[in-house]
Amino acid sequence: MSTTTPPLVDYDEAISRFDPVIGIEVHVELGTATKMFDGASTEFGAEPNTQVTPVSLGLPGALPALNGKAVESAIKIGLALNCEIAELCRFARKNYFYPDVPKNFQTSQYDEPIAFDGWIDIELDDGEVVRVEIERAHMEEDAGKNTHVGGATGRIHGAEYSLVDYNRAGIPLVEIVTRPITGVGDRAPEVARAYVQTLRDIFRALDVSEARMERGNVRADVNVSLRATPEAPLGTRTETKNVNSFRSVERAVRHEISRQAGVLDAGRTVTQETRHWHEDTGVTTAGRVKSDAEDYRYFPEPDLVPVAPSREWVEEIRATLPEMPVARRRRLQTEWGYADAEMRDVVNAGAIELIEATVAAGAAPAAARKWWMGELARTAKTEGVELADLPVTPEQIGQLQQLVDAGRVNDKLARQVLAGVLAGEGSPEEVVTARGLEVVSDDGALLAAVDEALAAQPDVVEKIRGGNQGPVGAIIGAVMKATRGQADAGRVREIVLERVQQG
Ligand code: ADP
Ligand code: MG
Repeated sequence: MSTTTPPLVDYDEAISRFDPVIGIEVHVELGTATKMFDGASTEFGAEPNTQVTPVSLGLPGALPALNGKAVESAIKIGLALNCEIAELCRFARKNYFYPDVPKNFQTSQYDEPIAFDGWIDIELDDGEVVRVEIERAHMEEDAGKNTHVGGATGRIHGAEYSLVDYNRAGIPLVEIVTRPITGVGDRAPEVARAYVQTLRDIFRALDVSEARMERGNVRADVNVSLRATPEAPLGTRTETKNVNSFRSVERAVRHEISRQAGVLDAGRTVTQETRHWHEDTGVTTAGRVKSDAEDYRYFPEPDLVPVAPSREWVEEIRATLPEMPVARRRRLQTEWGYADAEMRDVVNAGAIELIEATVAAGAAPAAARKWWMGELARTAKTEGVELADLPVTPEQIGQLQQLVDAGRVNDKLARQVLAGVLAGEGSPEEVVTARGLEVVSDDGALLAAVDEALAAQPDVVEKIRGGNQGPVGAIIGAVMKATRGQADAGRVREIVLERVQQG
């Protein structure tokens, strides 16, 4: 076999000649207070090896006891993904030796997952909906964390020594496995990203995990294969492990498609193997040749009784499920009357919650969108921060819009009020008072300003009297200038006409 690596094939070129198939395995760390099979804490960031018990250390004679909260979370996830929930299922031992697995086996589920045969609709950036079929969602425990010290790459090869932290060993995980996703063509990378993103949103909506990608709460393994045509049998897949950002999921799939096309073009075959993703260079490299299931000598876990969730309990859990993110988005779009493109911009800007709270605080949906996607989006961009991190609350934007609706400030003044709020000068009401920004509709003050403007432009008065309303605008402009934009323009127009008739 030649040792040279075939060149990558340009992505569009690869897609024009091959049909990609993807499959995604997502691991989510559940947010339970204690581990899957013992009472050790799951708190993030503790000193290494302080959150362990004889069970999570695999000491002889230590017996596991299943965490009910973890089972409930797994059922919630299964139901949210439209799965069947097993009436009875068992744990299995997946046997292998590695220092981060102190028992020399991982307690997992194998052929009896708690949830199976589901589906979830995901929405791509342009609004296209793709249905992803779920093969199963099963419970398992996390392994400990190895740290390889002294090498250049942080991997075991070239390291001088390794450290193991068992704090993570035994933290409950749910692994969700898709059926092969076919028929998505050049959108495969985007589908993979949108799918993981949708799951993250669901985990958060269900409140089963903090689902923070950067902490590794959610990790994805992406399987990719190519075939010559959509009619051909599935090709050999590779599994790129532990990709932990949305963007990396998309890039990893894209890269694998280009790489495998190169391998096939060179007349070789794709090796079924795990691969590592390299964030910095955007490439994958070979890991280990994939073990077959039989290598793990799976057998039923004798120390745990089967899990048999009653149908009543499952229905109780189903009744507590919150609205799912995609359905919620659709409902809000209808309620708010936004066009598809407007809604998409709102979603991409992460502004749904902000607008929802602004509307709850009394602003019309159109006005709420105008503030968050206009003035505030520009400010956030200039400051280089997220919308949600701006020093203004949706309640304050709601109050500001109410001032506009009541005619107490006009659009221009409202922007000045907002600037005051952003500068930390207090609530919109407080800024109006402190800066004296209210619209002047008090006739006394306006009359004086109108008379002054009329006196300065006698020719205009003549024209208006002659029936030409056009120049009224010039007088209003002069009054606005004199009142620093605070005059009530409608009232000024009325006064001008009255004065001219009287005069
Ligand atoms: P493993 O134990 O090897 O991780 P799993 O069954 O847990 O296997 O997951 C395999 C994933 O790969 C699933 O999402 C499955 O749909 C997907 N898959 C299987 N065959 C192919 C293929 N030929 N091409 C792409 N994805 C595939
Ligand atoms: Mg797997």
